Amino acid sequence: MDIKPQFWVRVLLLDNVGECTLKTGSPCSIVNNQSDLQAQTIEARLELIDIPIEIKFIEGKITIASDTFTNNQLVICPDDPYIFNLNGNDYRGKLKLIINPDGSSIDVINLIPPEPYLAGVVGAEMPDYWEPEALKAQAIAARTYCFYTKKRFGNNRTWDLKKTAAHQVYRGLSAESAQIWDAVNQTKGQVLTCKQNDGTEDIFPSYYSSTCGGHTENSKNVFGDSFEPLIGVTCPYCRNVTKPRFFFWPAILYDAVDVTTRLVQRYPQLKPLGEITTITAAGQSNHGEFSRLTKIKLIGSTGKSDFLKAEDFRLTLDPTGKKIKSTTCQIVKWGDKWAFLSGRGWGHGVGMCQCGAQGMARIGKNTKQILSYYYPNSKISTIDY
Ligand SMILES: [Zn+2]
Repeated sequence: MDIKPQFWVRVLLLDNVGECTLKTGSPCSIVNNQSDLQAQTIEARLELIDIPIEIKFIEGKITIASDTFTNNQLVICPDDPYIFNLNGNDYRGKLKLIINPDGSSIDVINLIPPEPYLAGVVGAEMPDYWEPEALKAQAIAARTYCFYTKKRFGNNRTWDLKKTAAHQVYRGLSAESAQIWDAVNQTKGQVLTCKQNDGTEDIFPSYYSSTCGGHTENSKNVFGDSFEPLIGVTCPYCRNVTKPRFFFWPAILYDAVDVTTRLVQRYPQLKPLGEITTITAAGQSNHGEFSRLTKIKLIGSTGKSDFLKAEDFRLTLDPTGKKIKSTTCQIVKWGDKWAFLSGRGWGHGVGMCQCGAQGMARIGKNTKQILSYYYPNSKISTIDY
């Protein structure tokens, strides 16, 4: 817990809620400020152990058990072993409650040092029985992604990362095991860096996804950013690791009216198109036997047309990403439906292929070899915190 304050990770656990339930196995201090120790005062002590405590937001004020506070933000700090349970899930570190600027609800944020945070990510992102070298590669990629996202976006908001696949999946204590902790501890402080546009060496957004399907994708085509390690590479390693139904996924049908509705809801600028009548590829990466859609052209009943990034199109129709698993597919009109056919791979395909990392580890490649394969021209550096 004695990590420098600037390295603590702020994970958004609950977004815009009016209440939640807390349980702790040790007494807690409720303080008014986390980062500035000089300005920190203890507002109250919670001595209730193993009893559910209701946290509520009533008439503009935060209430914890029977105490009402006038603070806009509060940090609940459990005593050793620094564990709390929120709505049935165990987490390490501290819990921050912040009233949203519009005063209508609160955000609930987990404040946690990098390593315990990563234990909750690596164990959620990979099975703990996978090869130790793959788990270590995952730990380094996740640590790099965490620090990059924190640095790039954290200053402008009250949290650094979401706990979902929108960033990286974080499940707290339930994701931890001895193997996962080994991978995190053996790579402590290690991150990936590359040469930036200004010539300096620094961290980059080390994206990763489940199963690339045979070739990873250039980040420029998916996220719009470009870093030397995020070009696409061929991947012969995921096919034998992933489940066959994830490598080649079955046809998915979406009602055509529903497709228009969802797209217009998410992108109001598409409204003038009317009903979407044509969906075609406006950009794709060809990899020999298959290609990944990168840009989609939409034409509507009014004759007007517009473009979307293929990954944005996919996640608008299927926010879970579990049905339309990737943009490596064909989109065909099928009566009053749109069919997604010949699907291949799972995820956006940028950066490390997680199943590919396991495939490489199985044939004896080490963490460094795995990372330099999927992030070419990157280096492993160590941050001291
Ligand atoms: Zn792959």
